[in-house]
Amino acid sequence: MRILIAGGGLSGLSLAAHLAARTEPLGPITVVDDGSRPIAQAGWASWSDRPGLLDTAVSRTFDRFRVHAGGRERIVDLGAYRYRFVRGDDFAAAVTRMTSRHGGFIFHSGHISGIRQAGEGAEVLVDGEAMYADWVFDSVLGPGPQRIDAWLIFRGWHVRTAAPAFDPAIPTFFDFRTSQRRAASFLYVLPRGPQEALVEHTSFAAARSHGVAYVKEQRHALGEYISEVLGLRECTVGKEESGALPLSAHPVDRRRGSVLAIGTKAGMVKASTGYAFERIQTDSAAIVNSLVTKAHPFDLPKPRPRYHLFDAALLDAITRDPAQLERVFTALFDRTSAEPVLRFLDEASSVAQEGRLFSGLPPSLYRAVARRHR
Ligand SMILES: Cc1cc2nc3c(=O)[nH]c(=O)nc-3n(C[C@H](O)[C@H](O)[C@H](O)COP(=O)(O)OP(=O)(O)OC[C@H]3O[C@@H](n4cnc5c(N)ncnc54)[C@H](O)[C@@H]3O)c2cc1C
Repeated sequence: MRILIAGGGLSGLSLAAHLAARTEPLGPITVVDDGSRPIAQAGWASWSDRPGLLDTAVSRTFDRFRVHAGGRERIVDLGAYRYRFVRGDDFAAAVTRMTSRHGGFIFHSGHISGIRQAGEGAEVLVDGEAMYADWVFDSVLGPGPQRIDAWLIFRGWHVRTAAPAFDPAIPTFFDFRTSQRRAASFLYVLPRGPQEALVEHTSFAAARSHGVAYVKEQRHALGEYISEVLGLRECTVGKEESGALPLSAHPVDRRRGSVLAIGTKAGMVKASTGYAFERIQTDSAAIVNSLVTKAHPFDLPKPRPRYHLFDAALLDAITRDPAQLERVFTALFDRTSAEPVLRFLDEASSVAQEGRLFSGLPPSLYRAVARRHR
């Protein structure tokens, strides 16, 4: 069977790695990418409670994180989970090692302008030329979520200090000591060493664009956090990175004939967190398992509607009243281990576990669930 992967970013390369890991004859497999989003500049944090296929690409691992909410700081143990960071270049190198051992892969540089059904398979237009495959995995053109419930808007600074200032063993998962006036916002700190960290301002906003004024506000909030909250006087700010991720609590209809959407285009970004890395790994494994056992890639686990409802309710509550996010996170993380919360965010919790988790949540969230359920 001929396979074409449209886009060699996180989801395209993850799928390639999972295909390369199988001993069954699958392929030839072509990965097409136009280089518009260089993977070497990317990097992903995520949590996991199990070994993964691409663990060799992990460069930093943490077993605790710091949270600051409701006026109190806690160091929360991650239980069975580990919080990890993968650099884009390490990830690409790990995938290259796996695919070159396999031998059946072609990496093609080109711009994709169309994907359409053609007979039993599908045709992909690459630099104006049609490439045919039995199955096409599309992380480039669509369909993507049809409805956007909120935006995750972030801006981060790579900070270097003159003297040791960061605990390299403990990232700050969220710190709410910043203004909540415009949107539900927190600071995130990912240390690279005692004198280096990514400090990121993150907001869940109702709309994507707040214009230049908002960029200024985010920069002001970052500066204020670094100097007033962290108390860092002698530091330099290197690279700035920013992004706006659409968040959708609605399932995506991923299949178009012989074409299956993957990655962001398949709705893999978790609406209540903005994380996608582990979901993409799980999805890649499921796709390959379906190809091997069913000879098609569509026998995938169905999304469970209650998690969409929870995500929608959270986004609804915090975009109406930004202060709700801190209240929810204070209640959720007021425990010694984050494991139950991470399991819930992984959509792997039982109804009984969720009942226990939700018992301390603010009533506004129940009202939001009821609104969404109608
Ligand atoms: C700035 C940012 C930071 C993020 N950080 C995290 C994180 O820390 N943890 C986490 O879990 N999630 C994170 N995410 C969310 C998600 O994991 C990433 O967006 C992830 O890269 C999505 O994978 P993807 O394959 O869908 O898209 P991409 O990784 O963007 O891959 C798409 C690929 O398609 C190529 N391409 C695009 N258009 C064309 C075309 N027309 N023809 C050919 N090739 C094309 C691009 O060059 C790219 O390589 C982040 C998202 C952003 C935007």
